[in-house]
Amino acid sequence: MTTSHYIAGRWVEGQGSDCISVNDPALGQPFAELMAASVAQVDQAVTAARGALPAWKNTSASERAAYLRGFAEQLGQRREALITLQMRNNGKPRHEAEIDLDDAIATFGYYAELAEQLPSKNRDVPLAAPGFSARTRLEPVGVVGLIVPWNFPLVTSAWKLAPALAAGCTVVLKPSEVTPLIEQAYGQIADALGLPAGVLNIVNGKAETGAALSNHNGLDKLSFTGSNSVGSQVMRSASAQCRPVTLELGGKSAIVVFDDCDVGQAVEWIVAGITWNAGQMCSATSRLLVQDGIADALLPRLQAALEQLRVGNPLTEEVEMGPLTSQAQWLKVAGYFATAREEGLQCLAGGKALDRDGWFVSPTLYADVPKDSRLWTEEIFGPVLCARRFATEEQAIAEVNDSRFGLVATVCSADLERAERVADALEVGHVWINSVQAVFVETSWGGTKGSGIGRELGPWGLSAYQSVKHVTRCLG
Ligand code: NAD
Repeated sequence: MTTSHYIAGRWVEGQGSDCISVNDPALGQPFAELMAASVAQVDQAVTAARGALPAWKNTSASERAAYLRGFAEQLGQRREALITLQMRNNGKPRHEAEIDLDDAIATFGYYAELAEQLPSKNRDVPLAAPGFSARTRLEPVGVVGLIVPWNFPLVTSAWKLAPALAAGCTVVLKPSEVTPLIEQAYGQIADALGLPAGVLNIVNGKAETGAALSNHNGLDKLSFTGSNSVGSQVMRSASAQCRPVTLELGGKSAIVVFDDCDVGQAVEWIVAGITWNAGQMCSATSRLLVQDGIADALLPRLQAALEQLRVGNPLTEEVEMGPLTSQAQWLKVAGYFATAREEGLQCLAGGKALDRDGWFVSPTLYADVPKDSRLWTEEIFGPVLCARRFATEEQAIAEVNDSRFGLVATVCSADLERAERVADALEVGHVWINSVQAVFVETSWGGTKGSGIGRELGPWGLSAYQSVKHVTRCLG
């Protein structure tokens, strides 16, 4: 049993009613368990964050930057333990676990730099009208609740935690019940750095704990990453209290391959976009739009690449794809395989669970999937790719935009003018051209339409935790 709640600068046992099993998905077996935080403990965490706010928001920006650099450094010192834990609890291949850790480190480093620039943002505003002066002051939003999912636990928490602390907010973080141990590193680091008690609080638990946090009237803002169904509940709580909310939700993103592409290169980008993290990415490019002139050459190569992908236990084998992270996700993906059979879809690769222990499925490709298929329209969150053909650029743009989601897209073409033109026409928050899904901390992350509200990363990620104040003085 693990002590896993960090409240007011102390590690405490959970007093909630849910017992949480922490599983190794490659074996389908638990390796740790913990008790969830109770509603009262969530209240204690919010109270601690509220108590710590006045002093924390008045620390100098350079002091906060020093703490953030400390987080980056200490993450690096825990490198091997954090990589192994992500491999064991998420089922991530080693190279992916390494990239996640490096992303979290880069995020803390980047927001340390932005924190240092904060004093220069509080500046006079030139006014056209005579007789008045005005100045801008960027203030922290206040106490923020951060609720995150399980697919990129270190990264998603870093994308919220680093800018929130940089802005001068105090926080209560609720990790996913599927991966409740990884973010404990942030509490351990807070301890090691002597971060003032209450600035960072971590409560673990399931829906009850999450709801206790998102319904709490002591928060000034809530930032949520997760599913659309829970996101809309979180938004309802925020609306009941008229308080701001950032939502990073699901996706059904597209990759568009024009017929001037190198086939081998396109296959590499397509495979990465659907098998990275076993397809459990909000940004998975799970809809392939392939131009008529290249489709017959590309689909067999893609089929072969997916069939040859090394799938296995990241802790004991050299793999390119691990298992799905939870049994619930495995059952959900298996349900889509059954739907595909019922719908009579043409399966070119996979389409089944692997015959071994653990929550493994085969990388899967369905061809010529009808536009009204559930597999074409719904987020599956697994390594399941659906392909359709298109003739013209206009058709491709229309098909990408014909979705209730709008998170990301990838465009592959040797004609860079065309690729840029298509990128501009897509109704999404981020587009890659001729690339794997490289995410840089200086750019933004977030979606349009049903994929959410607001942006993370870059200066926009910091603004999400700031409130703008103007002081106007009459000079007369
Ligand atoms: P989820 O919505 O089930 O859970 C997310 C978090 O919300 C967890 O911590 C969970 O315990 C908590 N929660 C559950 N019920 C709650 C409630 N009633 N009130 C408050 N909190 C509650 O999502 P998940 O299965 O953990 O993650 C997968 C989803 O996350 C996918 O839809 C994926 O697209 C999305 N996601 C989006 C992004 C993005 O940046 N847009 C990134 C990663 C994941």
